[in-house]
Amino acid sequence: MVGVKPVFWTASLEELKREFDSAGLPAYRAQQVWQWVWQKGIAQPTQMTDLPQSLRQKLEAEWRFPLPRLLHRRSSQDGTQKLLWELPEGGSVESVWIPQRQRFTLCVSSQMGCSFNCRFCATGQMGLERQLKGYEILLQVYGAKFLLGLPITHIVFMGMGEPLLNYSAVMEALTGLTQRMGFSARRITISTVGIPKGIERLAERPERFELAFSLHSAIPEKRQALIPTAAHISLESLRAALAYYCQKRRDWITLEYVLLANINDGPEDVAALRDFVAPPLAAKVNLIEYNPTPGLPFRPSPRLKEFQRALLRRGLIATIRYSRGRDIAAGCGQLARQLVS
Ligand code: SAH
Repeated sequence: MVGVKPVFWTASLEELKREFDSAGLPAYRAQQVWQWVWQKGIAQPTQMTDLPQSLRQKLEAEWRFPLPRLLHRRSSQDGTQKLLWELPEGGSVESVWIPQRQRFTLCVSSQMGCSFNCRFCATGQMGLERQLKGYEILLQVYGAKFLLGLPITHIVFMGMGEPLLNYSAVMEALTGLTQRMGFSARRITISTVGIPKGIERLAERPERFELAFSLHSAIPEKRQALIPTAAHISLESLRAALAYYCQKRRDWITLEYVLLANINDGPEDVAALRDFVAPPLAAKVNLIEYNPTPGLPFRPSPRLKEFQRALLRRGLIATIRYSRGRDIAAGCGQLARQLVS
């Protein structure tokens, strides 16, 4: 009968208090359990030592506390770690932990595989295996923090999958991250290939999440060639949705731009990008160094710095994201679950 018990991760504190109340237990007991689970990272009722034995047994009998299982862990020379998790509902996904001075970023997956086939991305070549449940997204953070003891200050939805095509699960994970694990929304970035409806819905949320949009080319035909699945989503409709986000938030967004040799790194690309970033869209450009993927016909552009300078000269804000964890295939777009030994 294990399958019928509710998963603890999906419950809110209010629900737990109600449940406890109807069982004749005081609200502070619910609070205690909550602290064990979400603040101390203890998910086994037997280890909640200040609870009466009967309550520990009750929790054990009535709830499931499934945890992810670490299948594989690889460290890069630069300190980046790639984690392969087996998830409670079956199958596995990768998360990447990236230390950078005082900043510790965990990059999480929102889907198992991806339904977009961005030509340059290894995950894109896998296809979509399944949607992740909200709690499975959350457990990647919970597992890294509490099972592995890794410090985490920032979270980015830049692993496998397209977060805005698993919208309700991603929202559930975001609620868990902010309201249960205590992460500030400003330290959580959602990276999207560009789903206008999803961007608009995100703009309506009360929290101020950071938004990154994977543009890669502001020339419609080029973007279509790079991201064929997005062919039916026009750049104008995306620009309108992003502008709405900026206006609603009174904030900047980030445009991600993987610089590919001889593909999107020329003067016409700079000009198109310059035109794309105009009010009401407020955006900074993050140029991404391409991580080569075996079998794919792309090379990193040698013009990264030059391209950045060209954008700066035209008054844009442009930064470069150098590759991390490339030696263990943990860089952007390299997550395809091959085990690097
Ligand atoms: N589906 C989301 C998250 C994907 S990964 C999105 O498209 O934004 C995060 C970023 O890595 C995206 O900008 C993606 O286009 C980029 N990326 C994909 N493959 C890459 C590669 N091989 N090298 C560098 N960046 C890559």
